[in-house]
Amino acid sequence: MTCIQCPVLSRCRTQIVYPRAGTNGLLMLGEAPGAEEDLAGENFAGPSGQKLRDLLAEQGICWAETGRASIVRCRPPWDRPPSGEEVQACLLLLEEFLRAAPPRVILTVGCLAARIFWGSPRLLVNLERMRRAAPRYRDVERAHVHLRGLLAKTPCAILVLPDSRPTVWNRRAPNGQRWSEIGQEQVALAARLLREHGDCP
Ligand code: SF4
Repeated sequence: MTCIQCPVLSRCRTQIVYPRAGTNGLLMLGEAPGAEEDLAGENFAGPSGQKLRDLLAEQGICWAETGRASIVRCRPPWDRPPSGEEVQACLLLLEEFLRAAPPRVILTVGCLAARIFWGSPRLLVNLERMRRAAPRYRDVERAHVHLRGLLAKTPCAILVLPDSRPTVWNRRAPNGQRWSEIGQEQVALAARLLREHGDCP
């Protein structure tokens, strides 16, 4: 299928980077393909993906079994943020993908994905909401995927990771923690939720 709904993106991309469903119940969801992803045709193929792979491996989560997707499937020129129209167009495709292969846990990577799922770009606010909900899976389970009102309620936990570029992960968040520490906590929580539901060893 060749999608040309976004005139600029469809002209500039090397290829559409399709989402990949995992087998362990976890979906990593980023913003848009970058240069490496655009060439490889795979989400999280670049250096930031390596960081995520390492983090998951520390928690015993297999990268090959983990689903990967992005809000927008085509690389924006000069890696600019996708426009509202582009996000809206591609969210319909993401909705279809999530309906076909619903994950148990979504780890959003970066502000755009967090904003779409939580309605706020403020990661620390999202983290606080997640912390309050995290102690019992039943509470987390009540989190709903909101794709601009299009996606029906899906029982799955949604956690947030900061943008995984090293420049961001080395900085301190407003609460004094390094973003890398926050990322480790979130991945550890994802692993725990998957274990509780028998998806991970
Ligand atoms: S970003 Fe999504 S909606 Fe836009 S052209 Fe690419 S595949 Fe189609």
